[in-house]
Amino acid sequence: MPTVSHRRPRMRRFTVLAATSVALACGLSAVPFVVSAHAAPDLDHSVLPARDGWAAQGTGTTGGAKARDSRVFTVSTRAQLAEALSAGPATEPRLIRVKGTIDANTDDDGRRLGCEDYAAGTGYSLASYLKAYDPAVWGRSKVPSGSQESARSAAQRKQAARVVLNVPSHTTIVGVPGTNAGLTGGSLQLKNADNVIIRNLTFSDTRDCFPQWDPTDGSTGNWNSAYDGISLRGATHVWADHNTFTDSPHFDQANPRYFGREYQVHDGTLDITNASDLVTVSYNRFSDHDKTMLIGSSDKDTKLRVTLHHNVFQGTVQRAPLTRVGQVHLYNNLYDTTERNGYSFGYSINSRAKAQVVAEYNYWTVPSGGAASRLLTGDGTGSLAGTGNLVNGTVTDLVAAYNAANPKKKIQPTVNWKPALSAGLEKSAAALPRTLPRTAGAGVLSASGALAKNTTRAS
Ligand code: CA
Ligand code: CA
Repeated sequence: MPTVSHRRPRMRRFTVLAATSVALACGLSAVPFVVSAHAAPDLDHSVLPARDGWAAQGTGTTGGAKARDSRVFTVSTRAQLAEALSAGPATEPRLIRVKGTIDANTDDDGRRLGCEDYAAGTGYSLASYLKAYDPAVWGRSKVPSGSQESARSAAQRKQAARVVLNVPSHTTIVGVPGTNAGLTGGSLQLKNADNVIIRNLTFSDTRDCFPQWDPTDGSTGNWNSAYDGISLRGATHVWADHNTFTDSPHFDQANPRYFGREYQVHDGTLDITNASDLVTVSYNRFSDHDKTMLIGSSDKDTKLRVTLHHNVFQGTVQRAPLTRVGQVHLYNNLYDTTERNGYSFGYSINSRAKAQVVAEYNYWTVPSGGAASRLLTGDGTGSLAGTGNLVNGTVTDLVAAYNAANPKKKIQPTVNWKPALSAGLEKSAAALPRTLPRTAGAGVLSASGALAKNTTRAS
């Protein structure tokens, strides 16, 4: 029997079928060949395991595991990544291996682009923008419009054309182990895409050069930015696994304040919105970030069935996640609410707009003086059920603690569904502070898809 490459699943299947036919023709058992057909795939060709969260529902999530050889791309620049993502035919599986850290703010020759390059020719300058929309001049009742807002929008579109990369259906994007694989300053957009796998990548400092002032956002106005590390809009069957998301090296404490508000250059890490559905987010690390994860972008969003398990949240301010509408399962996640790099804890889980959240066997580390009542928040219509959640090792009823402190916006302790897709659920959170720091995030998997041995990694 010929040696079968792990890189060629299609060839392997053909070989197995041919061998099986020969075996059957000779009156021999086909069992040995069937066993080889089920040999574990490597990291590149892994698919979502059965029952592993909502993305396992129905057809499951296979991404680009079945890509032909001509559809396997190894990329290390923004231009190569963009080319691999757009190579036709659009509907055929593609497998993209990312080697090293790709800087999204680069031109097609690899030259680094700064904010000034995007602003050039648009007429935008921050000084002019601040002058035009100073509340003392513009007021606070309407959103900016006019020449400086048009110029800001034009500059933002120029940056978006560089840093937003659209991911089509039936795609796997996977970091090559040992190369610090990732995307800095970039945003993967999964718009109406189905069947996508994203693994072993670090998404760092996804930053908007051109935040927009909105004086009508909240009571004091806000600066809002446009890009998430990964954005799901109408996306289905998505598995995001073993990635790291961080604002590093540009922490929010470096942001200036204008009009009394933080000039926020970051948006979300991984936002799941606009009727996205059937998503599994596992073994990721979310570090040093404010608006971490939206599940639903408005109270009228739909679908949003999402599973989050074995993720680490550290130095996240809020939205870990913010849930709306959907049936969301959160289990075996680790939350460290200690202030890190200037990111001061706000809350972990927001259940609003009738969200049906099951949160069980998660672990919170809360520094002295922190209160269990601050781990949740809501608008008074959301639900959150589930047991086995530990706060500093003690079983804690998070909803009871929150409701006692917020009697006018209570979270309902019951939900309208029962999770069925929860492979690997551990019915105790006690070990998570010891295990997840070395098993979650980018850089811990080897080429075989198993945990790399002797992994030492910075937290
Ligand atoms: Ca936003
Ligand atoms: Ca967003």
